[in-house]
Amino acid sequence: MNLCMIGTGYVGLVSGVCFSDLGNNVICVDKDKKKIDSLKKGIIPIYEPGLEELVLKNYKNKRLSFSTDLKESVKKSDIIFICVGTPTKKGGSGADLSQIYNVAKEISSSINKFKIIITKSTVPVTTGDEIEKILTKKIKKKNFSVVSNPEFLREGEAIRDFAFPDRIVIGTDSKKSNQIMKNLYSPLISKGANYIHTSRRAAELIKYASNAFLATKITFINEIANLCEKINVNVEDISIGIGLDKRIGGRFLRAGPAYGGSCFPKDTKAITTTADKYKTNLSVIKSVIKSNEKRSSLLMNRVHDILKGKIKNKKILFLGVTFKANTDDMRDSSSLSMIPLLTRKGAKIAYYDPTGEKKEFQNLKNVKFIKDINASIKDSHLTIIHTEWNDFKSINFKKLSKNKKLTVYDMRNIYSPEKMKEQGINYFGIGR
Ligand code: NAD
Repeated sequence: MNLCMIGTGYVGLVSGVCFSDLGNNVICVDKDKKKIDSLKKGIIPIYEPGLEELVLKNYKNKRLSFSTDLKESVKKSDIIFICVGTPTKKGGSGADLSQIYNVAKEISSSINKFKIIITKSTVPVTTGDEIEKILTKKIKKKNFSVVSNPEFLREGEAIRDFAFPDRIVIGTDSKKSNQIMKNLYSPLISKGANYIHTSRRAAELIKYASNAFLATKITFINEIANLCEKINVNVEDISIGIGLDKRIGGRFLRAGPAYGGSCFPKDTKAITTTADKYKTNLSVIKSVIKSNEKRSSLLMNRVHDILKGKIKNKKILFLGVTFKANTDDMRDSSSLSMIPLLTRKGAKIAYYDPTGEKKEFQNLKNVKFIKDINASIKDSHLTIIHTEWNDFKSINFKKLSKNKKLTVYDMRNIYSPEKMKEQGINYFGIGR
């Protein structure tokens, strides 16, 4: 099939490349010329394991191409995926849909025969109806169908998530579109992926409800961890003890820093805003948002206690600053609030991230990027393990602590508290 992905970010690039790998002809379009020029040269704009090999392979065999020409690309394609951003509105909490509606307007002048227009971007319920209204102004209804096909990929595991999805959700009332979508996804369905056909509005809501539920699970265990710290109980025991109940499930029950990333913070806000519009109070999700927003300062209070109230001039090392491991995505990472909070109190921050130096910290006074983790651990008053990269899982703290008592705050509970204490390290974890 001939596909066009509009927006070549995480979602558009990953799903576009993966669709081309399944044998489709895919044009990835973006208005960012620099990004498209780089991709044509084989330079991948994001860090995602396995992505580069797949891009190079499919670009070489000509099933995958890159373009800034939206109109021409739409004309050549049968299925158009809208994969542009839906960030939080500036100064508000609902989703900013301007990128979506701009694309809908642009598409409407290039539809020459029947095409399926799909929202892969996360969009509030009824957005599909609005896109349909925009398109109807220029195109006859029989020449297009607007379908919702939300994306559930996780950054860092995106290629595997595409190939082995838990489910594929297709929201449409059109039998014809449903059949075409089923054919498109048939290589994944035949490998066991669940295919769920719903109304368009239901598909839109499934995505937000999923993200809100996962954010709730994380926040729930983070709050239980707060209690564990007060009563000398290990939160890891609680996670296992409740997670083995099949009704609950063990995933997303690991206590840590506030959830971040490009989806959970914005999507939890957007779903409550949509519900408010329909005079429905999603009070559980609202309290999750509040709890998560407070979490970074709560963890910084712990840093204050660990350093016995003396943060001024203390050297603090952050290991990992992205919102999670295996991605270079800094969007809404908790390090973005923690690091400035500590510098305002006079701390001197060094940080290392396997995906390199971050522009977000370039202009911050007393924040520097380092490359030698071991030397920096030895030089710091406190090491904070902020992200669960494999690079941080086998640090020889025992060797590094030979001539100096080290203090480590392990926000991902990677190390054993008993072993660390045996090695003479002043060790703190989350909820234990
Ligand atoms: P992104 O910011 O990485 O990429 C969006 C791209 O769209 C940008 O490159 C931008 O230049 C391009 N764009 C914007 N307007 C355009 C236009 N008119 N024409 C061509 N290109 C245009 O965003 P993302 O992280 O890929 O997210 C996209 C959507 O998918 C969002 O709604 C997000 O919530 C959802 N989503 C993201 C993830 C994730 O892990 N990142 C997972 C599931 C769903």
